[in-house]
Amino acid sequence: MGTPIDRDTFLARAIARFGDHYDYSEIVYKSYKTPVRIRCTVHPVKPVMITPERHLQTTGGCKFCLKTSRSQIVPLGDSFARLMREANSAPPPQSLETPLPAVAEQRQNAADTLVPRSRQRGPV
Ligand SMILES: [Zn+2]
Repeated sequence: MGTPIDRDTFLARAIARFGDHYDYSEIVYKSYKTPVRIRCTVHPVKPVMITPERHLQTTGGCKFCLKTSRSQIVPLGDSFARLMREANSAPPPQSLETPLPAVAEQRQNAADTLVPRSRQRGPV
């Protein structure tokens, strides 16, 4: 990916990701990897210094939001694991069918292996 991300691209991506969660009016954009100053609109007490790159790769850089998101938002993997745990802890469905006797099947299979080798492989 050799395309450098300019200010407009960064802002477009940031807004697509975070909406109006962060205030970008103070940023002085130099490059994708040069820290900029943004402000979390939920926690405007302290501006966040973060590179545009990391801003788009993380929860945005606000450590207060990070705490909140860690305690509130359950990642998909966790909820899936919990779902599986619940499924496993549920009592198994009662099966009233008796297992089939397997003896007759085995005799049948033995007969099938006696296939005549009429064809031979290889060049004649
Ligand atoms: Zn925040």
